[in-house]
Amino acid sequence: MDTVTLDLLRRAHECAERYVTSLPDRRVFPSEEALAALDELDEPLPEAPTEPARTLEVLERVGAPATVAQTGGRYFGFVDGGMLPVGLAARWMADTWDQNTAHYVMSPVAAKLEGVCERWLVDLLGLPAGTAAGFVTGTTLANFSGLAAGRNELLRRKGWDAVEAGLYGAPPLRVVVGADAHAAVHKTLSLLGMGERHVETVPVDDQGRMRSDRLPRLDGPALVVTQAGNVNSGAFDPIGDVCDAVHEANGWVHVDGAFGLWAGASPALRELYAGIEKADSWAADGHKTLNVPYDCGIAFCRDREAFLAAFRASASYFQWSAHRDPMNYTPSMSKRARSIELWAVLKTLGRSGVARLVDGLCAHARRFAERLRAEGFEVHNDVVFNQVLASCGGDDELTSSVLEDLQSGGVCWCGGSTWNGTAVIRVSVCSWATTEEDIERSVAAFVAARRRASGS
Ligand SMILES: *Cc1c(COP(=O)(O)O)cnc(C)c1O
Repeated sequence: MDTVTLDLLRRAHECAERYVTSLPDRRVFPSEEALAALDELDEPLPEAPTEPARTLEVLERVGAPATVAQTGGRYFGFVDGGMLPVGLAARWMADTWDQNTAHYVMSPVAAKLEGVCERWLVDLLGLPAGTAAGFVTGTTLANFSGLAAGRNELLRRKGWDAVEAGLYGAPPLRVVVGADAHAAVHKTLSLLGMGERHVETVPVDDQGRMRSDRLPRLDGPALVVTQAGNVNSGAFDPIGDVCDAVHEANGWVHVDGAFGLWAGASPALRELYAGIEKADSWAADGHKTLNVPYDCGIAFCRDREAFLAAFRASASYFQWSAHRDPMNYTPSMSKRARSIELWAVLKTLGRSGVARLVDGLCAHARRFAERLRAEGFEVHNDVVFNQVLASCGGDDELTSSVLEDLQSGGVCWCGGSTWNGTAVIRVSVCSWATTEEDIERSVAAFVAARRRASGS
């Protein structure tokens, strides 16, 4: 029996137990002392080996206190999702298997679960039957995957083989995005050789939604990127209308739905989601709204052939199978078996459980907004999903001081942003673990921070 492995796993399990039980009382953002203690890690590379148990000891003693408690109920930063316990547990199990999932022959179970997740997600999100899914690190890579397929397919329609000939001398391709597109979209377009100068932007309304009546005249195939879930306001572009216009000109519509695509699982959000199924490719994060552990992005593409064509690779040592070979669906080759924890979360929640999770986040966001308004804060967005943008009556200086106080206070954590020219505190309710009591404690922290900042 491998007692070293078993001993280390037991220790890791004990550390994890201590961390999980500490969550309710833990500061959300680390203390100054915990941050300063990280300096202990700035040692030179050890010349000699360290006892593995000692390595874990350092990690728990120095590392754990300097974590941000994202898995607790009072973290509202960015759109960072919480983590359902079954996702973590399944991932632990799968990590002991350490599966590489490039080829089926490397991990039949991971390949099988990719196929199952693909089928389940296409059904759950109401995407067209036969839509392909690739499992990547996050939405940045999922956007990259969908847009690579779209770019290549549109060039193919113009008689150009981008895989073989690249972009050198290729016919120009129009690229259109909303003025409030996520930074990840711009980063992706630049990686794909479609730099900033050529990207056309469509004006947005006061919620950050692309104005479909202001789309440029499209006289040929264009790559158009829409958004389901504005990263500040949570608003959805009128994607169905955009698809109608773009498809008339033989173009391709991609949806950046990092956190918003999960609205498709909720019957209550049908109106918000309407028309999204008309698009050609979609990107979503399992690690946001769905609360799968980190490193879970999903790229969807209606045209399976175009999707697979974008990622084709060959080598004499490859071993293809009659089954799904996961590397055909992503830019990566070696990758961890992220389909396992995704499957575990979907299997455990079921269709109704995902709907309840999404609806719960939205209900908590509305509650948060209501409570902030009742305490005299201004809410700047229509709370249609899980995002709330609040300020101290549009007083930028006061809002920024309150945000700084909140971020260092440890009761809760929110990010900041600028919305229509005003400094705002950005509340993203993205964890299953958030309770009404967490919201009350957080709103009380807002009020106390404002009292301190206004010196009254
Ligand atoms: C988070 C987010 C991204 C980037 O996703 P990653 O998982 O961080 O790569 C892109 N678009 C939107 C709208 C997002 O919220």
